[in-house]
Amino acid sequence: MALSDHVDLSRFMEGVERRNPGQIEFIQAVHEVAADVFPWIIQHDREEYLEYQILRRIAEPDRVVSFRVCWEDDNHNIRVQRGWRVQNNNAIGPYKGGLRFHPTVTESVLKFLAFEQTFKNSLTGLPMGGGKGGANFNPRGKTDHEVMRFCQSFMTELYRHVGDDVDVPAGDIGVGAREIGYMFGQYKRITNRFTGVLTGKALEFGGSEIRTEATGYGVVYFLANMFEYRDRSLEGMRCAISGSGNVALHAAEKVLHLGGSVHTFSDSGGFVFDPDGVDEEKLAWTKELKEQRRGRIAEYADRYPGATFHADQRPWSVPCDVALPCATQNELSGDDARELVGNGCIAVAEGANMPTDADGIEVFAEAGTWFAPGKAANAGGVAVSGLEMSQNSARLAWEEDEVERQLVDIMAGIHERCVEHGRVADTGDVNYVRGANIAGFVKVADAMLAFGVV
Ligand code: NDP
Repeated sequence: MALSDHVDLSRFMEGVERRNPGQIEFIQAVHEVAADVFPWIIQHDREEYLEYQILRRIAEPDRVVSFRVCWEDDNHNIRVQRGWRVQNNNAIGPYKGGLRFHPTVTESVLKFLAFEQTFKNSLTGLPMGGGKGGANFNPRGKTDHEVMRFCQSFMTELYRHVGDDVDVPAGDIGVGAREIGYMFGQYKRITNRFTGVLTGKALEFGGSEIRTEATGYGVVYFLANMFEYRDRSLEGMRCAISGSGNVALHAAEKVLHLGGSVHTFSDSGGFVFDPDGVDEEKLAWTKELKEQRRGRIAEYADRYPGATFHADQRPWSVPCDVALPCATQNELSGDDARELVGNGCIAVAEGANMPTDADGIEVFAEAGTWFAPGKAANAGGVAVSGLEMSQNSARLAWEEDEVERQLVDIMAGIHERCVEHGRVADTGDVNYVRGANIAGFVKVADAMLAFGVV
């Protein structure tokens, strides 16, 4: 019987759907990887991956811990939230991946993120497995003391499941330096251990230079690699960015450093369009608005009269050369992709995780748009988290230049791996989605083979 007879993507996906009812984000993420990995296995005659059920095992998290998080708000009401940690796979290193605090967090969302993280971490070349966690808690509108009490309660359960050689969480949506500080303080208090159990810490207590900036910077370094590969440059490119959080703002900063222009930001209220472009002064103001005052992006249009605010809309109707979706999953649809392509967009690099839906990816593929999936383009954040772990283990702190130099090298390495596995033979173009999926998979799969059936 031919190897291809053993492989049936639709039967594999039926099983995934049966075992994970209603978990649409997770099923979507598994499908995207399986659709690339199965044909590759056949083409390269790697029957052992099928025999040992490698992809099926990666698509079944090692464990999913779910727990109650009680806390008291400022009015003395008792509030009850649900927290999770999904430990997807630790074949190549301790579980590693962020914590998300957002009302849209569900087990499906965290399973999809932990699954994706497994391939992303593998792609970085660093020894990190994949995990993700969070809670359906909305930090927006809460006081610092409320956020502190929630973080302490969350860590009072989470501490049993994490550790510097076990599982090392970091930030994600709704979890920044403030939340990491509160959680690290609580971990230290409970365990009496000062270890690198979280990354994204402040510099005073074991954080790394450039960690805050790394995801956004990394996206733009990856984008620059895509341009260089085609003997072009980012200079003069007009960028549309969604989101106005950590990833979006630092991506904007690096676009400006590399000579491009930035014309949009967004949040869940809508987007702002600035035809004159965001300059260094406007960017500094926006950072202060979002990071210090925790304000809404609509205020940008009040402050800068040339700019307009578009309530409840996403920025993909704005003419641009490059789109950087940096807010959340499924925020760029097939119709959005068609509009971008129609307006001349040539490149898309995902700062967020899975922001482009399956239709959107297909539209970009058909149009020949250079499309970098999040698991490759946004891996700079976790890569610098990996460097933070190394610095913590060695009890050292590297200089900013040193960390940024390593980030640049890591993003170039990821681009190279994507090209190696994603080059299209006839045209010489690159299918970055396939390249990232295959390169990320092979390293994890080979480690799993070495361990036998465990
Ligand atoms: P932040 O919380 O700093 O910012 C998130 C931004 O996205 C905010 O502007 C937020 O607006 C917007 N947003 C969130 N949910 C929605 C929604 N449902 N609809 C519209 N806008 C929304 O998060 P990050 O910048 O850290 O993360 C952004 C993305 O990047 C996520 O997909 C995350 O998983 C991914 N990522 C982050 C990494 C990191 O190091 N931080 C690493 C790798 C990936 P509002 O304030 O209105 O909610």
